[in-house]
Amino acid sequence: MKIANVRVFLTQPCGPHRRLIVVRVETSEPGLYGLGCATFTQRHRAVEAAVRHHLGPRVTGRDPRNIEDLWQEMMVSGYWRNGPVLNNAISGIDMALWDIAGKRAGLPCHDLWGGRCRPAVPVYLHADGATKEEVADRARALMEEGVRHVRCQIGGYSGVGARRAGLGPAPARREMTPAVSTGGPDAPAPGGAAFAGVYFDPREKLREVPRLFAHLRAALGDEVELLYDVHERLEPIEAVALAKALEPYRLFFLEDVVAPEDLEWLAMLRAQTCTPIAIGELFNHPHEMTPFIQRRLLDFIRVHVSQIGGVTPAIKLAHLCAAFGVRTAWHGPGDVSPVGMAANVHLDLALHNFGIQEWGVRAEVEYEMFPGLPELRGGCVDANGRPGWGIEFREDVAARYPCDDEEPEWTRARRPDGTVSRP
Ligand SMILES: [Mg+2]
Repeated sequence: MKIANVRVFLTQPCGPHRRLIVVRVETSEPGLYGLGCATFTQRHRAVEAAVRHHLGPRVTGRDPRNIEDLWQEMMVSGYWRNGPVLNNAISGIDMALWDIAGKRAGLPCHDLWGGRCRPAVPVYLHADGATKEEVADRARALMEEGVRHVRCQIGGYSGVGARRAGLGPAPARREMTPAVSTGGPDAPAPGGAAFAGVYFDPREKLREVPRLFAHLRAALGDEVELLYDVHERLEPIEAVALAKALEPYRLFFLEDVVAPEDLEWLAMLRAQTCTPIAIGELFNHPHEMTPFIQRRLLDFIRVHVSQIGGVTPAIKLAHLCAAFGVRTAWHGPGDVSPVGMAANVHLDLALHNFGIQEWGVRAEVEYEMFPGLPELRGGCVDANGRPGWGIEFREDVAARYPCDDEEPEWTRARRPDGTVSRP
Protein backbone atom coordinates (compact mmCIF):
# COMPACT_ATOMS: atom_id res chain seq x y z
CA MET A 1 0.00 0.00 0.00
CA LYS A 2 1.21 3.47 -0.93
CA ILE A 3 0.16 7.07 -0.53
CA ALA A 4 -1.25 7.85 -3.98
CA ASN A 5 -2.18 11.50 -3.65
CA VAL A 6 -2.28 14.36 -1.12
CA ARG A 7 -4.95 17.01 -1.69
CA VAL A 8 -5.52 20.21 0.24
CA PHE A 9 -8.81 22.13 0.47
CA LEU A 10 -9.52 25.66 1.70
CA THR A 11 -13.05 26.63 2.63
CA GLN A 12 -14.75 29.40 4.60
CA PRO A 13 -18.31 28.36 5.43
CA CYS A 14 -18.84 30.46 8.56
CA GLY A 15 -18.14 34.05 7.65
CA PRO A 16 -15.18 36.34 8.12
CA HIS A 17 -11.77 35.05 9.12
CA ARG A 18 -12.73 31.41 9.73
CA ARG A 19 -10.79 29.78 6.92
CA LEU A 20 -10.60 26.01 7.32
CA ILE A 21 -7.88 23.83 5.78
CA VAL A 22 -8.58 20.14 5.24
CA VAL A 23 -6.05 17.64 3.90
CA ARG A 24 -7.11 14.41 2.19
CA VAL A 25 -4.51 11.65 1.83
CA GLU A 26 -5.52 9.03 -0.73
CA THR A 27 -3.96 5.56 -0.88
CA SER A 28 -3.37 2.97 -3.58
CA GLU A 29 -6.18 0.90 -2.03
CA PRO A 30 -9.47 1.82 -3.70
CA GLY A 31 -11.68 3.90 -1.42
CA LEU A 32 -9.13 4.08 1.42
CA TYR A 33 -8.27 7.67 2.35
CA GLY A 34 -7.86 9.82 5.45
CA LEU A 35 -8.70 13.38 6.50
CA GLY A 36 -6.63 15.83 8.55
CA CYS A 37 -6.89 19.38 9.85
CA ALA A 38 -4.19 21.89 8.85
CA THR A 39 -6.13 25.02 9.81
CA PHE A 40 -4.08 28.16 10.41
CA THR A 41 -6.80 30.59 9.61
CA GLN A 42 -4.70 33.78 9.42
CA ARG A 43 -2.02 32.29 7.10
CA HIS A 44 -4.07 29.81 5.10
CA ARG A 45 -2.31 30.34 1.75
CA ALA A 46 1.09 29.59 3.27
CA VAL A 47 -0.11 26.29 4.75
CA GLU A 48 -1.80 25.35 1.49
CA ALA A 49 1.49 25.93 -0.37
CA ALA A 50 3.49 23.93 2.19
CA VAL A 51 1.20 20.91 1.75
CA ARG A 52 0.85 21.21 -2.02
CA HIS A 53 4.45 21.96 -2.98
CA HIS A 54 6.59 20.50 -0.20
CA LEU A 55 5.07 17.85 2.07
CA GLY A 56 2.56 16.25 -0.29
CA PRO A 57 5.12 15.39 -2.99
CA ARG A 58 7.55 14.14 -0.31
CA VAL A 59 5.15 11.57 1.18
CA THR A 60 3.49 10.47 -2.08
CA GLY A 61 4.56 6.92 -2.90
CA ARG A 62 5.38 6.13 0.74
CA ASP A 63 3.72 3.59 3.03
CA PRO A 64 0.91 5.33 4.98
CA ARG A 65 1.25 2.80 7.82
CA ASN A 66 4.58 4.30 8.97
CA ILE A 67 3.13 7.36 10.67
CA GLU A 68 5.96 8.08 13.09
CA ASP A 69 8.62 7.74 10.40
CA LEU A 70 6.76 10.04 8.02
CA TRP A 71 6.12 12.58 10.78
CA GLN A 72 9.81 12.72 11.70
CA GLU A 73 10.82 13.11 8.08
CA MET A 74 8.27 15.87 7.41
CA MET A 75 9.54 17.75 10.47
CA VAL A 76 13.28 17.60 9.79
CA SER A 77 13.62 17.28 6.03
CA GLY A 78 13.51 21.04 5.42
CA TYR A 79 16.41 21.30 7.89
CA TRP A 80 14.78 24.36 9.54
CA ARG A 81 11.82 23.02 11.47
CA ASN A 82 8.76 23.89 13.52
CA GLY A 83 6.65 27.00 13.34
CA PRO A 84 2.94 27.39 12.73
CA VAL A 85 2.97 27.04 8.94
CA LEU A 86 5.05 23.86 8.77
CA ASN A 87 3.46 22.30 11.86
CA ASN A 88 -0.08 22.81 10.58
CA ALA A 89 0.88 21.41 7.19
CA ILE A 90 2.39 18.34 8.88
CA SER A 91 -0.73 18.00 11.01
CA GLY A 92 -2.96 17.80 7.95
CA ILE A 93 -1.06 14.74 6.74
CA ASP A 94 -0.44 13.25 10.19
CA MET A 95 -4.12 13.28 11.16
CA ALA A 96 -5.07 11.82 7.78
CA LEU A 97 -2.62 8.94 8.34
CA TRP A 98 -4.23 8.18 11.73
CA ASP A 99 -7.65 8.25 10.06
CA ILE A 100 -6.35 5.72 7.51
CA ALA A 101 -4.92 3.56 10.32
CA GLY A 102 -8.32 3.48 12.04
CA LYS A 103 -10.13 2.66 8.81
CA ARG A 104 -7.70 -0.17 7.99
CA ALA A 105 -8.23 -1.65 11.45
CA GLY A 106 -11.99 -1.08 11.34
CA LEU A 107 -11.69 0.81 14.65
CA PRO A 108 -12.37 4.36 15.85
CA CYS A 109 -9.03 6.05 16.53
CA HIS A 110 -9.55 6.10 20.31
CA ASP A 111 -9.72 2.29 20.20
CA LEU A 112 -6.29 2.26 18.55
CA TRP A 113 -4.97 4.07 21.63
CA GLY A 114 -6.42 1.81 24.31
CA GLY A 115 -10.14 2.52 24.19
CA ARG A 116 -12.33 4.78 26.26
CA CYS A 117 -11.50 6.31 29.62
CA ARG A 118 -14.98 7.93 29.83
CA PRO A 119 -18.40 7.49 28.25
CA ALA A 120 -18.36 10.94 26.59
CA VAL A 121 -16.32 14.15 26.58
CA PRO A 122 -17.40 17.08 28.80
CA VAL A 123 -16.91 20.42 27.07
CA TYR A 124 -16.95 24.08 27.94
CA LEU A 125 -18.70 26.73 25.90
CA HIS A 126 -18.32 30.51 25.85
CA ALA A 127 -20.61 33.13 27.39
CA ASP A 128 -19.72 36.65 26.33
CA GLY A 129 -21.54 39.90 26.94
CA ALA A 130 -21.18 43.65 27.25
CA THR A 131 -22.23 43.69 30.91
CA LYS A 132 -21.84 41.23 33.75
CA GLU A 133 -25.62 40.71 33.82
CA GLU A 134 -25.57 39.79 30.13
CA VAL A 135 -22.71 37.33 30.68
CA ALA A 136 -24.64 35.72 33.56
CA ASP A 137 -27.78 35.38 31.41
CA ARG A 138 -25.83 33.65 28.63
CA ALA A 139 -24.07 31.35 31.09
CA ARG A 140 -27.43 30.45 32.64
CA ALA A 141 -28.85 29.61 29.20
CA LEU A 142 -25.94 27.21 28.61
CA MET A 143 -26.39 25.65 32.05
CA GLU A 144 -30.05 25.01 31.24
CA GLU A 145 -28.86 22.94 28.26
CA GLY A 146 -26.75 20.81 30.58
CA VAL A 147 -23.39 22.57 30.12
CA ARG A 148 -21.40 22.38 33.37
CA HIS A 149 -18.34 24.39 32.33
CA VAL A 150 -18.63 27.93 30.97
CA ARG A 151 -15.90 30.33 29.88
CA CYS A 152 -17.06 33.85 30.67
CA GLN A 153 -15.73 36.99 28.99
CA ILE A 154 -16.91 40.55 29.36
CA GLY A 155 -16.38 42.42 26.09
CA GLY A 156 -14.43 39.53 24.54
CA TYR A 157 -10.67 39.45 24.92
CA SER A 158 -10.40 43.21 25.02
CA GLY A 159 -12.57 43.67 28.08
CA VAL A 160 -15.10 46.41 28.57
CA GLY A 161 -14.40 49.75 26.99
CA ALA A 162 -12.63 48.49 23.87
CA ARG A 163 -12.49 51.06 21.09
CA ARG A 164 -11.76 50.91 17.42
CA ALA A 165 -9.71 53.70 15.89
CA GLY A 166 -8.88 54.37 12.28
CA LEU A 167 -6.03 56.23 10.70
CA GLY A 168 -6.47 59.98 10.92
CA PRO A 169 -6.70 62.50 13.72
CA ALA A 170 -7.08 61.05 17.19
CA PRO A 171 -10.80 61.10 17.98
CA ALA A 172 -11.99 62.85 21.09
CA ARG A 173 -13.43 60.60 23.78
CA ARG A 174 -17.07 61.52 23.14
CA GLU A 175 -16.74 60.87 19.39
CA MET A 176 -15.50 57.32 19.73
CA THR A 177 -17.84 54.46 19.03
CA PRO A 178 -17.65 51.92 21.81
CA ALA A 179 -17.15 48.39 20.55
CA VAL A 180 -18.95 46.84 23.46
CA SER A 181 -19.74 49.23 26.27
CA THR A 182 -19.29 52.71 27.64
CA GLY A 183 -16.41 53.78 29.82
CA GLY A 184 -12.77 52.87 29.40
CA PRO A 185 -9.80 54.45 27.74
CA ASP A 186 -9.51 57.19 25.23
CA ALA A 187 -7.91 56.56 21.89
CA PRO A 188 -4.26 57.44 21.82
CA ALA A 189 -1.72 59.74 20.35
CA PRO A 190 -2.20 63.16 21.89
CA GLY A 191 -1.55 65.70 19.17
CA GLY A 192 -1.09 63.06 16.49
CA ALA A 193 -2.89 60.55 14.33
CA ALA A 194 -4.29 57.45 15.97
CA PHE A 195 -2.92 54.17 14.67
CA ALA A 196 -5.60 51.86 13.32
CA GLY A 197 -6.55 49.02 15.59
CA VAL A 198 -8.73 47.77 18.42
CA TYR A 199 -7.86 49.60 21.61
CA PHE A 200 -8.17 48.14 25.07
CA ASP A 201 -7.03 49.06 28.55
CA PRO A 202 -5.29 46.31 30.56
CA ARG A 203 -5.79 48.24 33.81
CA GLU A 204 -9.52 48.35 33.27
CA LYS A 205 -9.52 44.62 32.59
CA LEU A 206 -7.70 44.07 35.86
CA ARG A 207 -10.39 46.05 37.72
CA GLU A 208 -13.46 44.63 35.97
CA VAL A 209 -12.76 40.91 35.75
CA PRO A 210 -12.85 40.20 39.53
CA ARG A 211 -16.14 42.15 39.69
CA LEU A 212 -17.48 40.00 36.85
CA PHE A 213 -16.66 36.75 38.65
CA ALA A 214 -17.99 37.99 42.01
CA HIS A 215 -21.27 38.65 40.20
CA LEU A 216 -21.23 35.32 38.34
CA ARG A 217 -20.54 33.23 41.42
CA ALA A 218 -23.35 34.97 43.31
CA ALA A 219 -25.77 34.77 40.38
CA LEU A 220 -25.02 31.24 39.16
CA GLY A 221 -24.21 29.36 42.37
CA ASP A 222 -21.48 26.87 43.14
CA GLU A 223 -22.30 24.02 40.77
CA VAL A 224 -21.11 25.57 37.52
CA GLU A 225 -17.40 25.56 36.65
CA LEU A 226 -16.19 28.99 35.50
CA LEU A 227 -13.24 29.73 33.22
CA TYR A 228 -11.60 32.92 32.03
CA ASP A 229 -9.15 33.70 29.20
CA VAL A 230 -6.74 36.61 29.80
CA HIS A 231 -5.43 36.19 26.24
CA GLU A 232 -2.00 37.51 27.33
CA ARG A 233 -3.44 41.02 27.64
CA LEU A 234 -1.91 41.97 30.99
CA GLU A 235 1.56 42.83 32.14
CA PRO A 236 3.00 39.81 33.99
CA ILE A 237 2.77 41.39 37.44
CA GLU A 238 -0.86 42.32 36.71
CA ALA A 239 -1.47 38.70 35.77
CA VAL A 240 -0.23 37.61 39.19
CA ALA A 241 -2.57 40.15 40.80
CA LEU A 242 -5.54 38.92 38.75
CA ALA A 243 -4.93 35.26 39.57
CA LYS A 244 -4.88 36.16 43.28
CA ALA A 245 -7.97 38.35 43.03
CA LEU A 246 -9.95 35.57 41.34
CA GLU A 247 -9.10 32.91 43.91
CA PRO A 248 -12.31 33.37 45.96
CA TYR A 249 -14.43 32.49 42.90
CA ARG A 250 -12.81 29.05 42.44
CA LEU A 251 -12.15 29.11 38.70
CA PHE A 252 -11.82 25.81 36.85
CA PHE A 253 -8.93 27.50 35.11
CA LEU A 254 -7.43 30.83 34.17
CA GLU A 255 -6.21 30.74 30.59
CA ASP A 256 -3.14 32.33 28.98
CA VAL A 257 -2.54 34.50 32.01
CA VAL A 258 0.88 35.40 30.59
CA ALA A 259 2.33 35.25 27.09
CA PRO A 260 4.63 32.37 26.11
CA GLU A 261 7.50 34.87 26.24
CA ASP A 262 6.76 35.53 29.94
CA LEU A 263 6.35 31.96 31.20
CA GLU A 264 8.99 32.39 33.92
CA TRP A 265 6.49 34.63 35.71
CA LEU A 266 4.37 31.55 36.37
CA ALA A 267 6.80 30.62 39.15
CA MET A 268 5.93 33.81 41.02
CA LEU A 269 2.23 33.35 40.31
CA ARG A 270 2.32 29.74 41.48
CA ALA A 271 3.97 30.72 44.76
CA GLN A 272 1.12 33.09 45.55
CA THR A 273 -2.14 31.51 44.43
CA CYS A 274 -3.85 28.19 43.74
CA THR A 275 -5.98 29.50 40.86
CA PRO A 276 -5.53 26.73 38.25
CA ILE A 277 -3.53 27.71 35.18
CA ALA A 278 -4.21 26.65 31.57
CA ILE A 279 -1.71 27.70 28.94
CA GLY A 280 -0.27 26.76 25.59
CA GLU A 281 -2.45 27.52 22.58
CA LEU A 282 0.49 29.44 21.07
CA PHE A 283 3.06 26.74 21.70
CA ASN A 284 4.85 25.24 18.68
CA HIS A 285 7.73 23.17 19.97
CA PRO A 286 8.35 20.84 22.94
CA HIS A 287 11.15 23.14 24.10
CA GLU A 288 8.55 25.80 24.85
CA MET A 289 6.49 23.61 27.13
CA THR A 290 8.59 20.82 28.61
CA PRO A 291 10.44 22.83 31.30
CA PHE A 292 7.20 24.34 32.59
CA ILE A 293 5.42 20.98 32.67
CA GLN A 294 8.35 19.44 34.56
CA ARG A 295 8.20 22.28 37.11
CA ARG A 296 4.43 21.84 37.46
CA LEU A 297 3.76 25.50 36.67
CA LEU A 298 0.53 24.73 34.81
CA ASP A 299 -2.50 22.55 35.44
CA PHE A 300 -3.88 22.24 31.90
CA ILE A 301 -1.93 21.99 28.65
CA ARG A 302 -3.90 23.91 26.10
CA VAL A 303 -2.12 23.37 22.83
CA HIS A 304 -3.81 23.67 19.46
CA VAL A 305 -3.20 20.14 18.18
CA SER A 306 -2.57 21.07 14.53
CA GLN A 307 -0.28 23.90 15.65
CA ILE A 308 2.16 21.46 17.29
CA GLY A 309 2.16 19.12 14.27
CA GLY A 310 -0.89 16.90 14.79
CA VAL A 311 -1.97 13.89 16.79
CA THR A 312 1.42 12.14 16.84
CA PRO A 313 3.10 14.84 19.01
CA ALA A 314 -0.13 15.48 20.96
CA ILE A 315 -0.20 11.90 22.28
CA LYS A 316 3.44 12.17 23.39
CA LEU A 317 2.79 15.52 25.03
CA ALA A 318 -0.28 14.23 26.86
CA HIS A 319 1.72 11.30 28.25
CA LEU A 320 4.51 13.63 29.37
CA CYS A 321 1.89 15.79 31.10
CA ALA A 322 0.37 12.76 32.83
CA ALA A 323 3.67 12.10 34.59
CA PHE A 324 3.53 15.58 36.12
CA GLY A 325 -0.16 15.80 37.03
CA VAL A 326 -1.04 18.13 34.14
CA ARG A 327 -4.35 17.57 32.35
CA THR A 328 -5.33 18.27 28.74
CA ALA A 329 -7.58 21.08 27.47
CA TRP A 330 -6.99 21.09 23.71
CA HIS A 331 -7.73 24.41 22.02
CA GLY A 332 -11.09 24.11 20.23
CA PRO A 333 -12.35 27.40 18.74
CA GLY A 334 -14.36 27.77 15.53
CA ASP A 335 -11.19 27.91 13.47
CA VAL A 336 -10.28 24.33 14.24
CA SER A 337 -11.94 22.42 11.40
CA PRO A 338 -14.54 19.77 12.28
CA VAL A 339 -11.91 17.16 11.31
CA GLY A 340 -9.59 18.64 13.95
CA MET A 341 -12.40 18.71 16.50
CA ALA A 342 -13.16 15.04 15.83
CA ALA A 343 -9.48 14.25 16.41
CA ASN A 344 -9.61 16.19 19.70
CA VAL A 345 -12.63 14.14 20.79
CA HIS A 346 -10.87 10.83 20.08
CA LEU A 347 -7.85 12.00 22.10
CA ASP A 348 -10.17 13.13 24.91
CA LEU A 349 -11.85 9.74 25.06
CA ALA A 350 -8.60 7.79 25.22
CA LEU A 351 -6.40 9.90 27.52
CA HIS A 352 -6.68 9.31 31.25
CA ASN A 353 -5.36 12.79 32.03
CA PHE A 354 -8.05 14.52 29.98
CA GLY A 355 -9.24 17.70 31.69
CA ILE A 356 -11.83 19.47 29.54
CA GLN A 357 -12.52 20.19 25.87
CA GLU A 358 -13.31 23.63 24.45
CA TRP A 359 -16.31 23.53 22.12
CA GLY A 360 -17.95 26.14 19.91
CA VAL A 361 -21.46 25.82 18.57
CA ARG A 362 -20.93 24.64 14.99
CA ALA A 363 -23.02 26.02 12.13
CA GLU A 364 -25.57 23.92 10.20
CA VAL A 365 -23.47 24.22 7.06
CA GLU A 366 -20.54 22.57 8.89
CA TYR A 367 -22.72 19.54 9.64
CA GLU A 368 -23.59 19.42 5.94
CA MET A 369 -19.96 19.80 4.85
CA PHE A 370 -18.58 17.37 7.47
CA PRO A 371 -21.06 14.52 7.99
CA GLY A 372 -20.27 12.78 11.28
CA LEU A 373 -19.19 15.96 13.11
CA PRO A 374 -19.76 15.23 16.84
CA GLU A 375 -22.91 16.80 18.25
CA LEU A 376 -23.24 18.57 21.57
CA ARG A 377 -25.64 16.83 23.95
CA GLY A 378 -26.08 17.72 27.61
CA GLY A 379 -22.72 19.44 27.89
CA CYS A 380 -20.84 16.53 26.28
CA VAL A 381 -19.73 15.37 22.84
CA ASP A 382 -18.88 11.87 21.68
CA ALA A 383 -17.34 10.00 18.75
CA ASN A 384 -19.81 8.19 16.53
CA GLY A 385 -18.26 4.69 16.57
CA ARG A 386 -17.27 4.66 12.91
CA PRO A 387 -13.65 3.74 11.99
CA GLY A 388 -10.94 6.42 12.03
CA TRP A 389 -12.24 9.87 12.96
CA GLY A 390 -15.73 8.86 11.83
CA ILE A 391 -16.09 12.07 9.86
CA GLU A 392 -16.48 12.80 6.14
CA PHE A 393 -15.73 15.86 4.04
CA ARG A 394 -17.97 16.91 1.17
CA GLU A 395 -15.84 18.70 -1.41
CA ASP A 396 -18.92 19.82 -3.35
CA VAL A 397 -20.27 21.71 -0.33
CA ALA A 398 -16.84 23.18 0.50
CA ALA A 399 -16.50 24.49 -3.07
CA ARG A 400 -19.53 26.71 -2.48
CA TYR A 401 -17.62 28.60 0.23
CA PRO A 402 -14.28 29.83 -1.18
CA CYS A 403 -11.83 31.64 1.10
CA ASP A 404 -11.09 35.34 1.06
CA ASP A 405 -7.76 36.86 2.14
CA GLU A 406 -9.06 39.53 4.50
CA GLU A 407 -6.96 40.24 7.59
CA PRO A 408 -8.94 40.05 10.83
CA GLU A 409 -9.35 43.21 12.87
CA TRP A 410 -9.14 41.65 16.32
CA THR A 411 -5.46 40.79 15.84
CA ARG A 412 -4.64 44.52 15.54
CA ALA A 413 -4.79 45.09 19.30
CA ARG A 414 -3.40 48.30 20.77
CA ARG A 415 -3.02 49.76 24.24
CA PRO A 416 -4.39 53.16 25.30
CA ASP A 417 -1.20 54.96 24.24
CA GLY A 418 -1.32 53.36 20.80
CA THR A 419 1.33 50.68 21.37
CA VAL A 420 0.76 47.40 19.54
CA SER A 421 -0.24 44.58 21.87
CA ARG A 422 -0.20 40.82 21.52
CA PRO A 423 -3.78 40.01 20.46
MG1 LIG B 1 -7.40 31.15 24.54
